[in-house]
Amino acid sequence: MGAAGNHKLPKTTAIARKDLHDPAQADSLVSGNKRPRKGSPSMPSDSVKSETRRFMRGLTKRNPGEAEFHQAVHDVVESVMPLVLDNKAYRKAQILERMTEPDRIIIFRVTWEDDEGNIRANRAWRVQFNNSIGPYKGGMRFHPTVTLSVLKFLGFEQVFKNSLTGLPMGGGKGGSNFNPRGKSDREVMRFCQSLMIELHRHIGEDTDVPAGDIGVGSREISFLFGQYKRLENRFSGILTGKGLAFGGSHVRTEATGYGCMYFCERMLADRGEGIDGKTICVSGAGNVAIFAVEKAIELGGRVVTMSDSGGFIHDPDGIDAEKLAFIKDLKLNRRGRISDYAKRFASSTFHAKHRPWGVPCDIALPCATQNEISVDDARMLIRNGVMVVCEGANMPTDSEGVHAFLSAGVLYGPAKAANAGGVAVSGLEQSQNALRLSWSREEVDDKLKRIMHDIHEKCVTHGDGDGHVNYVKGANIAGFIKVADAMLAYGAV
Ligand code: NAP
Repeated sequence: MGAAGNHKLPKTTAIARKDLHDPAQADSLVSGNKRPRKGSPSMPSDSVKSETRRFMRGLTKRNPGEAEFHQAVHDVVESVMPLVLDNKAYRKAQILERMTEPDRIIIFRVTWEDDEGNIRANRAWRVQFNNSIGPYKGGMRFHPTVTLSVLKFLGFEQVFKNSLTGLPMGGGKGGSNFNPRGKSDREVMRFCQSLMIELHRHIGEDTDVPAGDIGVGSREISFLFGQYKRLENRFSGILTGKGLAFGGSHVRTEATGYGCMYFCERMLADRGEGIDGKTICVSGAGNVAIFAVEKAIELGGRVVTMSDSGGFIHDPDGIDAEKLAFIKDLKLNRRGRISDYAKRFASSTFHAKHRPWGVPCDIALPCATQNEISVDDARMLIRNGVMVVCEGANMPTDSEGVHAFLSAGVLYGPAKAANAGGVAVSGLEQSQNALRLSWSREEVDDKLKRIMHDIHEKCVTHGDGDGHVNYVKGANIAGFIKVADAMLAYGAV
């Protein structure tokens, strides 16, 4: 079994593939020793669509009720199916079937005590999705909406994203349905400590290295790391996003947001445009959103919206550095609501329970959560002349919305490429921990910029066609090839 050979998107090949992706075979993950027919003529895209549908039927049957996971897999399979159909080695090794099945999933109860002395219990998961190109790597999410489906979609996406960074990282994700909102620091500490009592058995610098995500910031990472150190009596880089005093990296906090803007800059540069003077709508007011806004302001953009789960603020004058400092303090220190911004700055208005996508803009940066841009939101953005959509959050646009952006010729930067800066700097944090070194802020920022530009180039290489770049196709194919070729090289494992 060698490398997969032709990595340019090939013309597709028709094969009678009753056996491959057959829902009748869905109970057995890998359908066995079936051989595709030889000497096949070229396959039209309709056949690719029908193979994709057939594959998805099997996946849905094997993973019932996991809508987010189905959506994430569908978005990748749609892009890579022509490549798989044209590559006998991939087909023979059942690469797609194996790549969509996590290596393992750990599910456990987390029992903790609240400030009133009540015993509370939550469920937690770690999805170790694929470690073909490095130890599992991906964040932990604490949010009441966390389910196995959400974590499987995030873990699956992470496999491709981590591959795109060029760093040796496999994909994983974890989290809990614990809601940190409204909990005291001591309650959050007790929850994190209890969670780590189980999690510590499954992670390690060469095994699985978690990080933060929604609801898991520097406070939670610090509690988790402290407990790991106590349990294992070892100081080692088993988590990323740590404080600078104990093995953290410069620019990790800012990396996802900054990286998203570096990617956005590169997409615009290809059209002879820049960020300077552009009107920008941002959703979210957490880690990713705040630092995307910080970089956007630095690059001359006029950011007019931010949001949280309560609604969005619209400031037509633009959020400047001083106003952003207010938001940072509000969100990162006081853990307050974005509606307070409108009380503080008279130039702005608060729109309860609404998303910001009706505000006209040149650039949209969804930085809150999955499926926050519906197809109707996408159409509204297009009608209002949006030029670029660059995803800070994971899978923020629903599948129909993605197709609407692509059909309208919007420069659409999918999450697995555009928000890879966070995990890239996590990878750099792991390298610094292994070397017992600390690189300067400038050094890390330079490396981050270079990685984001390299990811952009990979998207262009694999997504170029008919004079325009399809970044979805480019990111999916570039991320897929590296992992698929490693799996081929290992044989049947
Ligand atoms: P965060 O700091 O917890 O912030 C999340 C923000 O999104 C908050 O403003 C939150 O509002 C809002 N939000 C969450 N769920 C929402 C919902 N259902 N509806 C509306 N708003 C909602 O998290 P983050 O680290 O910035 O992560 C944001 C996104 O980026 C996620 O998709 C995450 O997976 C992705 N991402 C993060 C990183 C990273 O390095 N942190 C890296 C790559 C991708 P409330 O406070 O009201 O809940």
